[in-house]
Amino acid sequence: ARTQADGSKPDAAAGGSSSTPKAKATFSSLGVSQPLQTALSSMSIKLPTEIQAACLPPLLAGRDCIGNAKTGSGKTIAFALPILQRLSVDPYGIFALVLTPTRELAFQIAEQFAVLGGVFSVRTAVIVGGMDMIAQAIELENRPHVVVATPGRIVDHLRTGNGSWDLSRVKFLVLDEADRLLTPTFSPELSYLFDVLPKERQTCLFTATLTPSIEALAAAPPRPGKQKPFIHRM
Ligand code: ADP
Ligand code: MG
Repeated sequence: ARTQADGSKPDAAAGGSSSTPKAKATFSSLGVSQPLQTALSSMSIKLPTEIQAACLPPLLAGRDCIGNAKTGSGKTIAFALPILQRLSVDPYGIFALVLTPTRELAFQIAEQFAVLGGVFSVRTAVIVGGMDMIAQAIELENRPHVVVATPGRIVDHLRTGNGSWDLSRVKFLVLDEADRLLTPTFSPELSYLFDVLPKERQTCLFTATLTPSIEALAAAPPRPGKQKPFIHRM
């Protein structure tokens, strides 16, 4: 079922009519650009999954989003496409920060960005623990467009960095596997990041489980002038 955080029916920009599932949605009808459609074809991806059909329109319209769908349902492409589509008209500094709990997930996400974003020459940096700090620092100084990171390591770089880059131009924040990120393990790093990230940005959370802390975020009053996040429940 597709509902808004405030219980109202979704509007057209947030996924179309409220009762009919988007069974016939195509990437084109959801507003995905032609170059990205071509990139999807090259990955043999033909039709959007349910989470993609639900979340692409609100994300492409600039809205915050909480997407709940089981593992393997294509959540990465649901946030990668809007990032790449918006990036292609506004390339400037670190545009998007994707946070994920593990190294392995970070590399998988970066790989999808590399394939989908190849046509735009998107620079993606993977900043995770257990890898060489200096090599990562050089990558960060090269102003990647998209940084895919585990929270601990990106905070290490912000604390020890020489100030030649920062997160002040981030327009798009993704919490991937948000149920695992929004736990006490990551809480000091997330607090640090929320302090340095600009308040004016688009934020999306993707999760296989709607935990109480995610429900609380969905229910929280939005900042003045902002809509509540669009929420897709599986
Ligand atoms: P999740 O994050 O929801 O666990 P992923 O984003 O890792 O899932 O996607 C799982 C797999 O499904 C990947 O191999 C991805 O390329 C593939 N995939 C994503 N979207 C589609 C689609 N619309 N059609 C077919 N395969 C897809
Ligand atoms: Mg995933």
